[in-house]
Order: sequence, then C-alpha cells, then structure tokens
Amino acid sequence: MTRHIQGLHHVTSLASDAQVNNDFFTKTLGLRRIKKTVNFDAPEVYHLYYGDKTGTPGSVMTYFPFPGARSGSAGTGEVSETAFAVPHGSLDFWQDRLSRLGVGGLGREERFGEQRLTLAGPDGDGFALVETDDARTPWRHADVPEQHAIRGFHSVTMRLADKAENADLLRFMGYEDAGQHGAISRLAVPEGNGADVIDIEIAPDMPEAQQGAGSVHHIAFSVEDEEAQTEVRRALLNAGYQVTPMIDRDYFRAIYFRSPGGVLFEVATTDPGFDRDEDIAHLGEALKLPKQHAHLRERLEREHLEPIRD
Ligand code: ZN
Repeated sequence: MTRHIQGLHHVTSLASDAQVNNDFFTKTLGLRRIKKTVNFDAPEVYHLYYGDKTGTPGSVMTYFPFPGARSGSAGTGEVSETAFAVPHGSLDFWQDRLSRLGVGGLGREERFGEQRLTLAGPDGDGFALVETDDARTPWRHADVPEQHAIRGFHSVTMRLADKAENADLLRFMGYEDAGQHGAISRLAVPEGNGADVIDIEIAPDMPEAQQGAGSVHHIAFSVEDEEAQTEVRRALLNAGYQVTPMIDRDYFRAIYFRSPGGVLFEVATTDPGFDRDEDIAHLGEALKLPKQHAHLRERLEREHLEPIRD
C-alpha cells in the first residue's frame, strides 16, 4: 500500500458519566474539549471530543458516555492502553498532580528506553504519559505549564492473543517494525504525525476482553483526504478485508474494518475538520447535532443529554 497512513487520527472509548469524563480530560489532563455532539447511531448519547486547540489528527480522544454503563473487563482483542506524549522531564510534575487529584493506577516504568507514567481513567481506562521529543503545540491550560502539557497521542497498545496477522496488517498499512520489548512488539509509521506508534502486546493466556465503560471502542488512522482514503480502501478490499463504504462523520470521512486480532479500525480524513460548524475560538462549547438529528434537539436536551458544567 502506498504511504497514506500518517499515524493515529483519534481514539474512541466508552464511559459511564459525561460530566466525570469531561472533567477528567479538560481539568485533570488539561486537554481542550473540541466538540460536543451526539452519537450518530444513538443520538440520546453524547459524543465528546478532546484534543489540542483545533483537534489536530493524532491528538483527538473521543468518548461515548452511556450513563451508568457497566465497566468493561480487560482481556485480548482490545486496545489496553492509550498513551499521550509529554516532553522530557514532565513525569514528576504529572505524578504529583495526578496523585494530588486522586487519579488511580499511577506507576512509573520504562519501555523501549522511554519513561512512562501509567494512570487509570475514571472508568478504569488504561492510559500512560510518555516522555518524548515532540514538536507539536499543546493546548494551553491554566493549571498545566506549557513545558509539561500533553502534545497529542504517543501510541496505543493492542493486547492480542496472537500477533502475527495484526502486525502483517500494520506493515501493509505502512508501519515498520521498531523493536521488541518482552511480550511487546513495536511498529511505527515513518515520518508520521507524532502519534506514530502501535505497540502489540501478546497475552495468549488472558480471556477475551468484554467491552464496557473504560474500554476503547475503536482506533482511527489518519489520511489526508478522500482520495488517499479511497486508495487505502481499495488496497484493503483487494487484500481481503471487509471495509465499510465511506461514511460522512461531519468533521471527517470514515471507513471501518475489523482487524484480525479483534480491534475495530477506522481510517479517517483530516478534512473537513472540527471548525466546519463553529469558530476555533469557541470549539466544543455549543451542542452540535448532525443534521439528520437536528429536529431532535429539544427532546434530547430535555430528556437525555444532561448539561455538562465546564
Ligand atoms: Zn471514529
């Protein structure tokens, strides 16, 4: 396949409480909420997006908060950890801050020579902060000094029963082998957008994961535009993958397919972007509804979408 994949575009996960989810990403981690909309297929549920100032591909963490959803259970066939990039020398700041704010799962480790701080999200979501050289511009948050702020994604870790087929798929998508660390194989896309890395952890003895609050629903890879996406889609179809037709997600165009290890993959375009329906200065403030759900606004706001306090 030609080199259209530029790294991750977004990661989409499940949560049990919109307000708690919002506070964790915008207050604790200091990201910007860049879009407040609803799930296309279940408009009574929010779809919340967090990222840098404009929602640059490779920085965008999104959530479907289903009120009261049961927690997922860890296992194989899922993304076990989403990692964010922070500058070198930032982990002491973050460990102090997160500990003070009562965040669980804090632990320091090293992987591939990189220093990492693990942490758990509000629903037990697996996260890490990884110290790395990263030229991306962070969102400015009052409580997080710019020299420590999150730059975007560093990587995701997929936990699988067997690595072979998924690694082959990633190589087909333009990723290259970048090392082995115990049970973890690293693949990286050359000259990517910063969110370049996929780690594959092999855990043959674990049960299959059960999806629920705190689980990653899917990961999306970034391509420039629809032309690149069409070429990627054609190549995947030719290689035998079952890929959906292109779906318009208002802020990007998406195609989806199931990867061999069980993780749902999406390929999303950079355009048209998150400023297509509101000014950059006010991204994420108003509730935006896809046009097919616009007529539901009054009922959704009255009965389903509890207002989020910023
Ligand atoms: Zn998506």
